[in-house]
Amino acid sequence: MSQQPPIVDLRSDTVTRPTPEMYEAMRTAPLGDDVLGDDPTVHELEALAASLTGKQAAVFVPSGTMGNQIALASHCVRGDAAIFEEEAHILYYECGSPALIAGVLAWTVPSVRGLLDPGEVERRILKHTLHTPGTRLLCLENTHNRAGGTVIPMDYLREYRSIADRHNLKIHLDGARVFNAAVALGAPVSEITRSVDSVSFCLSKALSSPVGSLLCGDSDFIEVARQWRKRLGGGMRQAGILAACGLVSLRTMIDRLAEDHRRANDLAGGLATISGLGIPNAPETNIVMVQTDARADVWMRALRERGVWCYDFDPHRLRMVLHKDVDDAGIARAVEACADVGRSLIP
Ligand SMILES: *Cc1c(COP(=O)(O)O)cnc(C)c1O
Repeated sequence: MSQQPPIVDLRSDTVTRPTPEMYEAMRTAPLGDDVLGDDPTVHELEALAASLTGKQAAVFVPSGTMGNQIALASHCVRGDAAIFEEEAHILYYECGSPALIAGVLAWTVPSVRGLLDPGEVERRILKHTLHTPGTRLLCLENTHNRAGGTVIPMDYLREYRSIADRHNLKIHLDGARVFNAAVALGAPVSEITRSVDSVSFCLSKALSSPVGSLLCGDSDFIEVARQWRKRLGGGMRQAGILAACGLVSLRTMIDRLAEDHRRANDLAGGLATISGLGIPNAPETNIVMVQTDARADVWMRALRERGVWCYDFDPHRLRMVLHKDVDDAGIARAVEACADVGRSLIP
């Protein structure tokens, strides 16, 4: 029987499987009923998340989407305006929830590869009057997903903070991949999060936990957030089973993100030499955006037949995401499969 080589799954860093250490942690975690407030493993995870991000408190939520939506609902009242980058995950991939749950009015600002011009942000801020909605919140995304895992430089973060302070706005960071940003900047994550009022980050992406995100902020904010979590059905009982994996993620999976970043560079380098493909921008973290001369969906299907899975993000753009379950051999196979598809598409 011929052995099929394993799939190289570059669709997302959400596809990572738990590590053996996570399975062991799940088996042995002390548990309680977290909705009643007595799961010690959840408490431990929330305390660690708060301390890493330099915030007073944190709340464990089922997903990044719920963390973001709870943040909007906790910072804003219905009819408030919030400013977003125009392709923000919160607007693009969260099913219209900002309109549905928090009832916020989304003001969008275009960007250069996910990076908002601070002056442009400041021009969008409205004061609450008889006629105009008041701008309550600025939402940032770091790293930026649709822009290709791009990192917000520290001086921009400080600039956004001073704008927010001048105009009495809060800042929420959609930090689904904020640890990738921290590793790319060579700084502790708290240096990023000191410029924001709240941050949500995912354990379930490259940090390799099966489920879960954390929303961090000051104690009053997290108290309001806990009520929103319950309201949305996000209260989980013996959630320590999942929090135990999250503790392994935060203790052991952050530094290794540098490996994913190195492999993203290797992959981009390999793909840049293939005719019919282009790498307009070198990857900054674990996401590679690939320009395709032919239609991206044609590329995606042809690669899938060759055991390499990825997504078409736009009509002529593929997204490939690195994570712990793709090794150097996987990168080599992905480059080889792309070269093969490239040859087959030559007219
Ligand atoms: C994945 C992601 C989310 C949402 O996370 P889920 O856990 O899938 O709900 C939010 N923001 C960004 C930037 C993401 O990439």
